[in-house]
Amino acid sequence: METKVLKPTKENIRYCAELIKSGDVVGMPTETVYGLAANAYDESAVKKIFMAKKRPADNPLIVHIADIGMLKELTTSIPKIAITVCEKFWPGPLTVVLPKSDKIPLITSGGLDTVGIRLPSNKVARELIKECGLPLAAPSANLSGSPSPTTAEHVFDDLNGSIPAILDGGSCSIGVESTVISFENDIIRLLRPGRISVDDLKTVASDVIIDKGVLEIISNDAKVKSPGMKYKHYSPKADITLVDGSIEFFENYVSERNSIDTYALIFDDDNTSEDIKSIKYGNNSEQQAERIFAVLREADKIGAKRVFARCPSKDGIGLAVYNRMLRASGFKVVKEGD
Ligand code: AMP
Ligand code: MG
Repeated sequence: METKVLKPTKENIRYCAELIKSGDVVGMPTETVYGLAANAYDESAVKKIFMAKKRPADNPLIVHIADIGMLKELTTSIPKIAITVCEKFWPGPLTVVLPKSDKIPLITSGGLDTVGIRLPSNKVARELIKECGLPLAAPSANLSGSPSPTTAEHVFDDLNGSIPAILDGGSCSIGVESTVISFENDIIRLLRPGRISVDDLKTVASDVIIDKGVLEIISNDAKVKSPGMKYKHYSPKADITLVDGSIEFFENYVSERNSIDTYALIFDDDNTSEDIKSIKYGNNSEQQAERIFAVLREADKIGAKRVFARCPSKDGIGLAVYNRMLRASGFKVVKEGD
């Protein structure tokens, strides 16, 4: 199958909506990462997403809507706190997990009786959803396990030949996937960190609990609240090690292990010895979020076999970058002083 990369004109959005309405899948830009979209109600269309991505069947998809009114038919009950949260953070990079209605097939929810729902702010995504008149199931548009796509080219690199079209909306402005939360009375449970931070959530909840799966290894056969968090994920082919400490510790650590196909993933302001080849990924957490997946893909393109990465900050959106880096490295972390 030929994979068309299309500018997001009205005509092309309409063309992609027709593809989706007839049961096909389409790559679409969002403000977080690119999604692979299909009619959330259509079992065989959703099956195509799992097949194209080679995604495990128990990893649920997020359902994308274009206005808050679409929430009702997807869920059986919406607690008051969920309404407050959605009104405050939507449209935007936040997914809420709620009890699912019978309209959502189990294949979409990965077999769970809940569904993750998000109203994106990206204009192209919303126009596409509106044009379809349907909620769109859309996980990240990468091959399962590899770094998420933040450009149409990344989607093409992973899925060329297995999907009919990609809408090219340019680079994603945020760069890491949405924050995923569930509700326990007035308390919010953070299942996956993203641009909407713990501090942001604390403004609307009596407390925010960080789920174990955010920072710890979850075994592949464990039952977890956010199934996507249990897989080694976001990984390039290169072997990644996170080095948590000062630049001096980092430089010594890498120097002792340096070889021809070793690279350092460092901050823009870091200066390391000329013997160490480096890739830079921003100075602050926002820049790191925006670039993290592109630099992990770049590491493969330049043939890196081993990458030593400076550990990002764990505050704000930094927690999301750290969470993705933990998984990209398979939780291989070296700490100064250990
Ligand atoms: P992706 O679309 O690739 O960003 O992955 C979606 C992720 O959202 C999943 O891997 C889960 O971690 C989370 N998610 C989606 N739906 C649910 C749900 N019903 N319950 C818990 N987590 C969910
Ligand atoms: Mg994903």
